[in-house]
Amino acid sequence: MARATYREYLVAVSEPERTVDHAWRPDRFMVIVAHPDDADFGPAATAARWIDAGSQGWLVCCTSGDQGGEDPDADPLALAALREDEQRTAAGIVGYAGVSFLHQPDGALANDLALREQLVREIRTFRPDAVMATDPETLFYRDGGVNHADHRAAGLAAVDAVYPAARNPMAFPGLARSGLAAHRVRRLYLFWSERNNAWVDVSASLTRRIDALRAHPSQIRDLDGLTERIRTWAAEEGKAIGANAAEAFRVVVIDDDEDEGPG
Ligand SMILES: [Zn+2]
Repeated sequence: MARATYREYLVAVSEPERTVDHAWRPDRFMVIVAHPDDADFGPAATAARWIDAGSQGWLVCCTSGDQGGEDPDADPLALAALREDEQRTAAGIVGYAGVSFLHQPDGALANDLALREQLVREIRTFRPDAVMATDPETLFYRDGGVNHADHRAAGLAAVDAVYPAARNPMAFPGLARSGLAAHRVRRLYLFWSERNNAWVDVSASLTRRIDALRAHPSQIRDLDGLTERIRTWAAEEGKAIGANAAEAFRVVVIDDDEDEGPG
């Protein structure tokens, strides 16, 4: 091996793998989550960055979080109403065009045909280019902990609604007959994934995610501690692209295009 080539080899193996800011932006995107606050713990800073750059975003919560408390005597419907109010406020901070609540049962979310039809209806109505959802393949987190069953169910339901149901005119024909034509979502952005392949620089929009989380007081006890953790996590993700803060995604390109690919 020539000396110059060997030196290049040493540099290549000694430098950590670096990638670049994932700059592709959908004109329209939809975030599909299980609970109110998931989107704000998840990809809210990326959503805010895209919205600031001109994208239209829509948030879909499959449940209204009616089990999100520790008081067995609490009224679940009152808690659901409170959490919907909190999520609407947070969505306003991020800048979504609107929020849909599908009113599925918290703690018992199932990726069944009823939920899939609801999601296909949402997708065919808003017609997003990209859908963001929890990675349904995350069962255990590498750093410890179990991913909530509702998060896995919501992620899988979102994937199944995007492909093939939303784009198949013969799936849920009643929707097509009522004027909701088939729609092709081009990309999935899966968050809380253990297989990230894209990092979005959110240095300029991370405070919006923190402000959105502050709009969920029913779920947050230690706001300052949480703020610190969010900043630490985002800084960790940012190292992958040399940014102060980033959010990481497993991007799945369904319809290839001329634009920049993942990463
Ligand atoms: Zn959740």
